[in-house]
Amino acid sequence: MNNKVVIIGAGPAGLSLACSLVDTDLEIIVIEKQSTKYLSSPSYDGREIALTHFSKKVLEDLGVWKRLSSKTISLIKEAKVLDGNSSYALHFDRHKVRKNALGYLVSNHLIRKALYKEVITKPNIKIISGTSVVNVNTGEHSAFVKLKNNKKIQASLIVAADSRFSTTRQNMGISAETHDFKRVAIVCRMKHQKPHHKIAYECFHYGETLAILPLVQKNISSIVMTIPMEKSAKLMNMNNKEFNDCISNKFKNKFGNMTLVSKRYQYSLTGVFADQFIANRFALIGDAAVGMHPVTAHGFNLGLRGQNTLSLQIKFAMEHGLDIGLFQTLDRYQLRHRRACRSLYLGTNAIVKLYTDDSLLAKITRKIMLRIGNNFIPAKKRILNQLTEISI
Ligand SMILES: Cc1cc2nc3c(=O)[nH]c(=O)nc-3n(C[C@H](O)[C@H](O)[C@H](O)COP(=O)(O)OP(=O)(O)OC[C@H]3O[C@@H](n4cnc5c(N)ncnc54)[C@H](O)[C@@H]3O)c2cc1C
Repeated sequence: MNNKVVIIGAGPAGLSLACSLVDTDLEIIVIEKQSTKYLSSPSYDGREIALTHFSKKVLEDLGVWKRLSSKTISLIKEAKVLDGNSSYALHFDRHKVRKNALGYLVSNHLIRKALYKEVITKPNIKIISGTSVVNVNTGEHSAFVKLKNNKKIQASLIVAADSRFSTTRQNMGISAETHDFKRVAIVCRMKHQKPHHKIAYECFHYGETLAILPLVQKNISSIVMTIPMEKSAKLMNMNNKEFNDCISNKFKNKFGNMTLVSKRYQYSLTGVFADQFIANRFALIGDAAVGMHPVTAHGFNLGLRGQNTLSLQIKFAMEHGLDIGLFQTLDRYQLRHRRACRSLYLGTNAIVKLYTDDSLLAKITRKIMLRIGNNFIPAKKRILNQLTEISI
């Protein structure tokens, strides 16, 4: 059996795994349907990714963090969660974790670019771009991918990192629990008159949620609004002035006048949890394994954790002279990663359900939950641990 790993998808999860395996004797092939030009310089997509301390450490170890300019990394010093029209906030502060920040915000396209720049310096990683994988076949002794250009590649292990709508997952007959939230996230950057003081706000209004994420400049933030699908066209089609006024009002002018400084981007929200993360000589990572609602900002953080777990299992197998596609090797990844993700996935969906339910009972429960979160120390510690991935 050759020692070749094929990774489908050069998104942040696929590229991270390629980087993690670089110090092995493996030949790593990444297949990506986008062009090399796009991979080397992906365009801004509106997503600012909140990274935990664990994720920062993984990116540091991969040599990727140092490729991000400090001018593009925003520190989140505090976070406040508000409900309805009340000014009461569940409050988190970096002092409680004894770090310079609760977490870090980096634009998704810059993470992708830094990962790509790192990967192309490695002789044992080859990227085949501009073509997609159209079929996958794996068995006990061999695995193949078939490309759109009819080429076939044999490997010891195939890893799919081809997004939450993974066609490879379907190809492999792996079912997934999917949850259509029937909502969209509209994201953009806005300039505001008053400074954000590096505080992130998550406001669970009735019928919609609004987040403001502080960027490096003291008066520019990323805005993330989740609204019912049927309302998105109106917001996307407003002219800039109407949109600016609309968002300033939604924040009750807390930040003064707000002005768009980027395009608006829209993402439909679907949660995905694959029923299996592995099969013979096959593993799912990133959103292809678990696609999260962005409200808890954990999608890529889990993706990084998953690829880290898988790479450690592969290295363990290699050190012990074992076949890397062996079911036991992959099953250890599956067990650990499912354990790391399941409660977070279910918890996130429960938060979304509660905070999009505007019945009287839900409104009361929402307020109680914020107060429990603030005043019941074990609950607050647990939320803080998950938010920052630091054990306190
Ligand atoms: C609005 C929003 C905000 C978010 N905020 C956060 C946050 O704050 N923190 C956080 O951790 N996460 C966040 N996320 C989630 C994060 O963006 C995703 O978890 C992450 O991008 C997933 O990476 P991935 O590599 O698994 O998949 P993707 O980024 O979807 O990449 C998949 C890649 O596979 C390629 N591909 C697909 N099919 C094929 C094929 N057949 N052949 C070859 N290539 C293929 C695609 O072209 C693509 O490049 C957010 C998401 C959204 C939408």
